[in-house]
Amino acid sequence: MADSTHEQWLVQIDAELDGELSLIERAALAKHLATCAHCAGARASQLEVRVALARSAGNPHAFVVPRPSIRAGTLAVWVVIALGTGLAAGWVAHGQWGGPGGGGTLEESRGTIVVH
Ligand SMILES: [Zn+2]
Repeated sequence: MADSTHEQWLVQIDAELDGELSLIERAALAKHLATCAHCAGARASQLEVRVALARSAGNPHAFVVPRPSIRAGTLAVWVVIALGTGLAAGWVAHGQWGGPGGGGTLEESRGTIVVH
């Protein structure tokens, strides 16, 4: 029965490390951690994960690693991938259509219009 509440405490631990818990909630969590080696261990490994994240973000002395910054980092990766894909697509298009100013097709078509 006690095991079913561990999931809830793990959520609380996550929120606590994000600085999202109120004092009362932190007190309740501290009380549980004092009596529950399972959750205390989970909190320690959560902290280790966050230290690793902070180190990889170049900020090992951070108090917390707010989740928005983690998301922003993930977003940046996707922006780079999207840009890379866009560049690749542009490069392919350049190869197919000669690119801007490459073939002078615009001048030719304009000439055709003028002649007509
Ligand atoms: Zn527990």
